[in-house]
Amino acid sequence: MNRRVVEQGLKDRFFPIIARIIEDSQLETPGFVPRERILGQLMKEPEAKNRLGKTKAGNIIDWFSAHFTMHKHGDTRFLRWGPIFNQFERAEIEGQTAYKPISFNAIGIFPDEVNEKAGFLEGATRKVLVNAFERDPRACQRCIDVYGTNCFICGFSFGSVYGKVAEGFIHVHHLRELAEIRKEYLVDPIRDLRPVCPNCHAVLHCRKPAYSIEEVKKFLKVN
Ligand SMILES: [Zn+2]
Ligand SMILES: [Zn+2]
Repeated sequence: MNRRVVEQGLKDRFFPIIARIIEDSQLETPGFVPRERILGQLMKEPEAKNRLGKTKAGNIIDWFSAHFTMHKHGDTRFLRWGPIFNQFERAEIEGQTAYKPISFNAIGIFPDEVNEKAGFLEGATRKVLVNAFERDPRACQRCIDVYGTNCFICGFSFGSVYGKVAEGFIHVHHLRELAEIRKEYLVDPIRDLRPVCPNCHAVLHCRKPAYSIEEVKKFLKVN
């Protein structure tokens, strides 16, 4: 195999791992993740440790950085990793390249949606932002990874009722009150999100502010 093919294979294998490291870091330390911290985490991955070693792993992070920059500047040679690069923004922090996920930041999230729908919804922008958390695919995925796809309130499972066609379908509900949401709010999928079925979700939102999970669980028992 020529060198280019080998390098492409390494990028295909390790760029998604770098992306996961940046995302996982958000749960502990939200914000930009510098190169050295990515490298440290990458060295904890057995495959990277055994197959690459620290120098080579550093090279791959630098490839990530170089391709990221060129991709963001419109270079079409790196489209195959576009879906990865498009999830992040980059900055120079204390002389190091650093990345953070774009849509975990409330202000950066679905700006079109805010403009488009604010006029139709009570509570306007902030309400839309909160709903946007419930639709952020990566935050939802993290929530589902942790809590599963059964309704957190009633236990409903789309897969077991409707079969394969609906397997894994679930809504995600955002727990925090509007008043708590500040400008620089970062959604923590484990703290702030819960999977709920559309029925329970509708009931949660029957009151403003929304009922708590516990309250709706109690309604279920009473009725
Ligand atoms: Zn439910
Ligand atoms: Zn909700």
